[in-house]
Amino acid sequence: MIKAKGYAALSKDTPVQAFTFERRSPGPSDVVIEIQYCGVCHSDLHQVKDEWGHSIFPMVPGHEIVGKVVDIGSHVKRFKKGDSAGVGCMVDSCGHCQSCESNLEQFCFNGMSGTYNSLEQDKKTPTQGGYSNFIVVTEKFCLNISPKLDLKSTAPLLCAGITTYSPLRHWNVTKGHRVAVVGLGGLGHMAVKFAASFGAHVAVITTSANKKEDALRLGAKDVIISKDPAEMKKHAGSFDFILDTVAADHDLNALLALLKVDGKMVLVGAPDKPAAVSAFALIGGRKTLAGSLIGGIKETQEMLDYCADHNITSDVEMIPMNEINTAYTRMVKGDVKYRFVIDMKTL
Ligand code: NAP
Ligand code: ZN
Repeated sequence: MIKAKGYAALSKDTPVQAFTFERRSPGPSDVVIEIQYCGVCHSDLHQVKDEWGHSIFPMVPGHEIVGKVVDIGSHVKRFKKGDSAGVGCMVDSCGHCQSCESNLEQFCFNGMSGTYNSLEQDKKTPTQGGYSNFIVVTEKFCLNISPKLDLKSTAPLLCAGITTYSPLRHWNVTKGHRVAVVGLGGLGHMAVKFAASFGAHVAVITTSANKKEDALRLGAKDVIISKDPAEMKKHAGSFDFILDTVAADHDLNALLALLKVDGKMVLVGAPDKPAAVSAFALIGGRKTLAGSLIGGIKETQEMLDYCADHNITSDVEMIPMNEINTAYTRMVKGDVKYRFVIDMKTL
């Protein structure tokens, strides 16, 4: 075992604070990454506050990890010391179920190992995330990062990036489609960049009137303030696809009303409370309501390569490690433009 430093939540009621713990000594298939930057996802906050239930404490959050390879096991082929590498929301899976064989490790029948607040495949060792100085991860779950990409604004691609890229690709969002992105936060701003890059006509549906200029700069053509019933009504029946990234309780029926006949709304936001959906909001236009969880490792690599080729990264606000609790407070207020990233030098 090797000693690691990090920041952890010790319980749902205590602030995230300095913490030392152990990581495994690297095995033949492992890559050791010195973490340079880690993005702050709203999922970190849901989990340190135990909003989804079943949180495992102490918890070192963080699943938007980028850094430098400092050691490799003897079987490692895709990485060498000094390379940039990334780790997203998963660090392992069974590798042999139908999902794993279809490159959908996030849906592993035997349970994937999340990067933190989860268990390794031995089903007993808790995993610890990226608010720390280094991480040891099996090569298969490490991502290659092109030298073309700016590292700190690449960190959020590992979760916010893939979580929005994957459903847009899966449902074939492309030129000619009218797409709405609900919530302009970490996920939402990446969704706008991707959907616009895929050629769609993009609208942002937001509660924050002050994000209008940014929405347009990020690639949206329309901005709809969801609290204004007249604006919502004006766009009724007008979208082919809606991607809902909202982290809190909100009205799904009002959003479903904005879909065309046969339109699809996909949830990626994960509020703690279940939402009420009226059957009439769906049957009236043969509408589809679906969900999506991150993306598999192969698709995550494809997304990172797409970003390198198309010059897409996240808009970030850098913070030192000891400002994480303030960052969480601001995140709850929707006051993030558009992703906090921790500079791990400050640990
Ligand atoms: P975030 O940066 O906090 O953004 C969420 C945005 O939702 C806010 O900026 C705000 O945008 C909007 N919002 C917040 N409260 C709202 C309310 N009460 N009503 C309507 N809109 C509200 O969060 P994030 O990191 O993007 O994550 C978003 C959600 O996705 C979280 O629940 C997270 O756990 C989940 N998530 C899911 C996956 C997955 O695989 N499915 C992966 C990562 C994260 P406006 O100011 O524009 O309204
Ligand atoms: Zn995340």
